[in-house]
Order: sequence, then C-alpha cells, then structure tokens
Amino acid sequence: MKIILERPKCIGCGSCAAVCDKFFEMTEDGLSHLKNSIKDDDGIERLEIAEVGCIKEASEICPVQIIKVN
Ligand code: SF4
Repeated sequence: MKIILERPKCIGCGSCAAVCDKFFEMTEDGLSHLKNSIKDDDGIERLEIAEVGCIKEASEICPVQIIKVN
C-alpha cells in the first residue's frame, strides 16, 4: 500500500494521531507527520507499507481528506 500525507494542507486538528498514533504524530509546527515516511520537496510525505491498519481510519476521519491510501 502507498500512503500519502499532503502535509502542507494539514489544518492540525489532531484526529489522525488520535485514532492512529502508530503512524501519525503531531509535530512542533502543529501539523501531522506520517512516521517513517519520506518527504518530498513540496512537503508531501510518502510511505509504503504492507498493511494499512489504522491509517484507513485516519484517512476517513481527516476533515480535509489529505491522507490518501492507494
Ligand atoms: S486528520 Fe488531517 S487535518 Fe487533522 S491533523 Fe491529521 S492530517 Fe491534519
């Protein structure tokens, strides 16, 4: 599975970290970070994992829909 977090669009609500702290954490700048991901120059974070797990819930709960699962 390919996970994408469009971090520049994050509004810092904290919902993803609340439902899926295994993969998401809030950082000092108030935005979400996808743990162990690789960040592009444009600030988008990407991660490849075998099992989507709670990221699915995080994707569904994100109010601005910037957590993509493919
Ligand atoms: S749920 Fe979405 S908007 Fe809220 S902190 Fe996570 S990525 Fe940002």
